[in-house]
Amino acid sequence: MTLLSTRNHDRDVAGLTYVYPVVSRRSGGVSLGVNLNPNNACNWGCIYCQVPNLKRGGPPAIDLALLEVELRQMLGAILHGDFLADQVPEGMRRLSDIALSGNGEPTSAPEFPAVVALIARVLNELNPWAGIRLRLITNGSLLGRAYVREGLRAMAECAGEVWFKFDRATRAGLRLVNATECDPEQHYQRLKIASSLCPTWMQTCMFALDGAAPSAAEVDAWQGLLARAVREAVPLQGVLLYGLARPSLQAQEARLGALSDDWLRDLARRVETLGLAVRVSP
Ligand code: SF4
Repeated sequence: MTLLSTRNHDRDVAGLTYVYPVVSRRSGGVSLGVNLNPNNACNWGCIYCQVPNLKRGGPPAIDLALLEVELRQMLGAILHGDFLADQVPEGMRRLSDIALSGNGEPTSAPEFPAVVALIARVLNELNPWAGIRLRLITNGSLLGRAYVREGLRAMAECAGEVWFKFDRATRAGLRLVNATECDPEQHYQRLKIASSLCPTWMQTCMFALDGAAPSAAEVDAWQGLLARAVREAVPLQGVLLYGLARPSLQAQEARLGALSDDWLRDLARRVETLGLAVRVSP
């Protein structure tokens, strides 16, 4: 039997449609993913995206009954079965979170608030709340939709947390890294809304492109955005600063490279001087 590892994020490992377990270095244990985009469609096209055969678009209708069956099945195997002993390396044998994260943008599913309610109900029943967070990993682009804000409010009620993608703070940077025409000012406003509704971390991926680190101007713009968030008292939990952990599955993969730990940690120190918490995952 293949052990799961932090480098093996095969979402088909459990053979289910919506629910997949991964060993997550970021959460320090098993993260039970809920994939609302089984068709590998996203409204962004990030250059570092690890979704195979990524295409533009949204998800098909979500089968909530099937999702619930799969969630109960995997929670049962993890909490009461042999799953951890059989498939997870020692030291990582704990269920750390349930993550709404998958092969596309989770909030593009109109069923998103219903899914949050479903997960909260199942967790309440099983009562394994201790130490298990419900996380939404989102590009944040759909915060303008009422149902997305409703979902975030519901997450806050069950001690949930949002990881909000904000990789670059210029139009050119967002176009290059995320393949979106998103306006950075508008995205900043969405970050503010998310933070006001549910505890929110800003997540950023930094990497070398064609051998060069992000330009000083790009990094300054990004840092300036964080300084503004501090000035405007946006209640951010902090910043999740990522390097390239696993290879991109997109066509530009060969152009990407990891930055040194020193580069990332130097940037983290600059963020800390603003008074924000930073977690670095090189
Ligand atoms: S937002 Fe996430 S799923 Fe969508 S392209 Fe970017 S990394 Fe991939």
